[in-house]
Amino acid sequence: MRKAWSILPEEWKPILTERGLRAFRADQILHSLYRDWITDWDKATTLPKDFRESLKAEFPITKTEILEVSESADGTKKLLLGLEDGEAVETVLIPATGRFTQCISTQVGCAMGCAFCASGSRGVVRSLTADEIVAEYMAGRSFGEITNIVVMGMGEPFMNYDETIRALKLINAGKGPNLGARHITLSTCGVVPGFAKLAAEGIQFELSVSLHAPNDALRSELMPVNRRWPMDELLEACAAYTKTTKRIITFEYTVIRGVNDSRACAEELAHQVRRVPMAKVNLIPLSPVSHRPDFKTPDEATMMMFLDVLMKNHVQTMLRRSRGKDADAACGQLRLRRMENVKCKM
Ligand code: SAH
Repeated sequence: MRKAWSILPEEWKPILTERGLRAFRADQILHSLYRDWITDWDKATTLPKDFRESLKAEFPITKTEILEVSESADGTKKLLLGLEDGEAVETVLIPATGRFTQCISTQVGCAMGCAFCASGSRGVVRSLTADEIVAEYMAGRSFGEITNIVVMGMGEPFMNYDETIRALKLINAGKGPNLGARHITLSTCGVVPGFAKLAAEGIQFELSVSLHAPNDALRSELMPVNRRWPMDELLEACAAYTKTTKRIITFEYTVIRGVNDSRACAEELAHQVRRVPMAKVNLIPLSPVSHRPDFKTPDEATMMMFLDVLMKNHVQTMLRRSRGKDADAACGQLRLRRMENVKCKM
């Protein structure tokens, strides 16, 4: 049994014929799924009833339930999505002028254990399947047409490479939702084997790399993944990626007060980033997380100083505002709060 939302458009014909079903139905199926946006085979009324029944039995449509919507003053909506086995993931909808960006999760929890991240504070429960990732998108688009996707929710996409890429290929497919590859950004904490695999796909997805520290000592402290793949290896993989794909890489740098926000850090970061051709930096002030009250948001002047040092060192840098703070919208916070509430009640 395969879930309907895990099947790429071009796979439908061979799958149908293999099962003795008629191949010409493939286009009707695709029309129902990605033009009529049905979430239940019973709604595919262009298809004969007995055929709908076999689709239901052989290719079920993933059921999810929106358990909670928290909306912040800036219009950001965070959805907690219940999955068929009772687990839940978060997806965030971020409106901006001319854009409606969705942030999606790839795992329930996360194994990477970055010190400042709420998603990783309880470890990983399981990876999402491709159809569950597509289901997040489907839940998102019920609030409006999605123009951009960022894979910056819970989980590490390169630790769930195959299912994540399958979902993104489906969302990108012309006969599927048809969202442009350049409107889809993957973010990794630096799982090095993923870079060459992604480059070999030959799809123009955007790639972000969470760096957050300018040297191994500090990075290994903040991000355990650095002990497995230290910065030299990571930056080499990044350079190889930009060389093969001719695509830029964006380094994410979350600024934490008194931890990685000194002038010396900024200078060292500039030096490291320049090792990768076609690299940019996004500076993001830390969103406070409940499990690390000692990690604080930097003040505006520090952010400006950091930006200034990078720019003077010829590194293309953007200052990012975190969105949806009052909706617990930073990484993993909504699920965590729910788990904490549940715990309190018990
Ligand atoms: N595992 C992937 C994608 C998920 S995290 C990755 O690490 O890139 C998406 C981004 O949010 C990462 O850059 C992550 O480091 C950042 N992030 C996590 N917790 C944060 C916090 N409390 N404040 C600001 N950014 C945070």
